[in-house]
Amino acid sequence: MDLKKYVTIVQDWPKPGIKFKDITTLMDNGDAYKYATDQIVEYAKEKEIELVVGPEARGFIIGCPVAYSLGVGFAPVRKDGKLPRETIKVDYGLEYGKDVLTIHKDAIKPGQRVLITDDLLATGGTIEATIKLVEDLGGVVAGIAFLIELSYLNGREKLGKYDVLTLMEF
Ligand code: 5GP
Repeated sequence: MDLKKYVTIVQDWPKPGIKFKDITTLMDNGDAYKYATDQIVEYAKEKEIELVVGPEARGFIIGCPVAYSLGVGFAPVRKDGKLPRETIKVDYGLEYGKDVLTIHKDAIKPGQRVLITDDLLATGGTIEATIKLVEDLGGVVAGIAFLIELSYLNGREKLGKYDVLTLMEF
């Protein structure tokens, strides 16, 4: 299936000069969403994944159906102040500004094999911060899966030592 035809390019959003890749049109199509999810599930099975971790909000859209299909848990990574119990934090720079990401301190068991998911790899800042949270809790980043990689931003260079799956490249 040609997944690219389900992604809508939105010119000049959220800022002039940005060509935003809107994945809601992919999610809106049951066949496309299932196909994309199934590709990541197969990859996760090969990597013997025991837990899926994804940053809000689009990391949930990709990761939760994968976790459900595998029968493993999903741990959310959220912006500061959103998780109700004790968290660990990391500062990060993203394509359009700066922020803090957090995860519950007891979300990952040491040695657990983790798949990190997000919709899109741009500069790699979000995923680098998510990796740090997983590793700080003793998790093993056994794979990272995205729907989309913006290859011209070279985010993959930050992920050199990890195994990365992307379903589409722009
Ligand atoms: P990075 O941290 O790699 O620079 O940016 C990736 C993050 O920003 C992801 O969490 C992703 O959801 C969001 N993002 C940046 N650009 C786009 C885009 O064009 N489309 C979508 N869907 N998300 C984007």
